[in-house]
Amino acid sequence: MSKPEITPPPLRNDCFALPAGVNWTPVDDALALLRGRLTVVAPVETAPLAQATGRILAEDVIAKRSNPPQPNTAVDGYGFAGAAPSGPQVMPLQEGRAAAGIPFDGAVQQGMALRVLTGAALPSGVDTVILEEDVTVQDGHIAFHGPLKQGANTRKAGEDVARGDMVLPAGRRLTPADLALLSATGISEISLRKTLRVAVVSTGDELVEPGDPAAPGQIFDANRPMLLSLVERMGFQPVDMGRVSDDREDLRHRLNRAAELADVILTSGGASAGDEDHVSALLREAGAMHEWRIALKPGRPLALGMWDGTPVFGLPGNPVAAKVCTLIFARPALGLMAGEGWSEPMGFDLPANFEKRKKPGRREYLRARVRDGRVEVFASEGSGRISGLSWAEGLVEIEDGARHIQPGDPVRFIPYGSFGL
Ligand code: AMP
Ligand code: MG
Repeated sequence: MSKPEITPPPLRNDCFALPAGVNWTPVDDALALLRGRLTVVAPVETAPLAQATGRILAEDVIAKRSNPPQPNTAVDGYGFAGAAPSGPQVMPLQEGRAAAGIPFDGAVQQGMALRVLTGAALPSGVDTVILEEDVTVQDGHIAFHGPLKQGANTRKAGEDVARGDMVLPAGRRLTPADLALLSATGISEISLRKTLRVAVVSTGDELVEPGDPAAPGQIFDANRPMLLSLVERMGFQPVDMGRVSDDREDLRHRLNRAAELADVILTSGGASAGDEDHVSALLREAGAMHEWRIALKPGRPLALGMWDGTPVFGLPGNPVAAKVCTLIFARPALGLMAGEGWSEPMGFDLPANFEKRKKPGRREYLRARVRDGRVEVFASEGSGRISGLSWAEGLVEIEDGARHIQPGDPVRFIPYGSFGL
């Protein structure tokens, strides 16, 4: 049979250029849109401090007690009243002592000293303490060398936190140190945001569950375990909604269920405009779809939409792009919805250990890590190279304009830790 004469389309000079006539939204504009449009959705609950680590404060917290609550001694030593002049000093010792939690019952007489231990409330008649190591004790007296300033080696009441001070602001994600601060200032119950529930769905006929038999053409679902773990590490509650084949009705049911169970939905795959791209098709059908053509590599396409009132982030299927889009777009958006406000990841300018020419027109993120103070990037920029995601310890962010990076030039490295990972 003779082949029909069909002319393939000519290769265009700009075949690698961004599509003509399409507005590619710069990353910063896309972020500003998300920031401006999303609001807090996580409800408020009261919880004991023991359950508060990593959770988000719903209200400012006011100290119920000062820290320290009363003046006390910062060292083991001997307490007395007032400054000691320069030169050798000898003072009679008063009977008794003050220890942490066991105050001295009585007053220390002018000109006398009392044994005091670290953390002990200063007894009446004591405002200054000499360090035990600087003292000779003999015959019921202490001897030391002045001068010593009034108030030496003591802590003032409230010098750290005063009762009534705002100790932590609403939106704060509580750290171990915050729990110390809250405890010290008399807080045992706090008003917290319920943890944002984030559903994760993988889409694609080619996907099988890791461990299951895989026929030719099938691949293991790599995105779902990664996304569920990212969600958890970023401080949200992952809701595993499994895999869906490229079937519109199946996906519709799964999205319905996800919208019931979660506050936000992350899908991966099927977000472009192709025949089997059902995520974008369904969102478009629901009338609440915005395909975001973001000037970002790796990343496009990102489909954003509402499903039954629940925001959907339609992430790209490529694992590298899925991760980058999650870190750059989903994470600050989820943080905002969770009640912690919008946060930008902290980056560091470090010398590059690589060369790269980059064209203008889009932002790029490279898989990177730091060795010997220099930033290395993964050898391949291929968006399916999952090994590079695992190799990397962060991302290099290259600004939207053109750039020719040479070894030694500063580049912006954002460690995964800056994304809460
Ligand atoms: P899609 O966005 O659905 O066109 O998928 C883009 C590429 O990502 C294809 O090569 C898919 O096979 C791949 N992909 C999609 N979902 C996953 C997944 N969950 N795990 C691994 N690769 C995936
Ligand atoms: Mg697909």
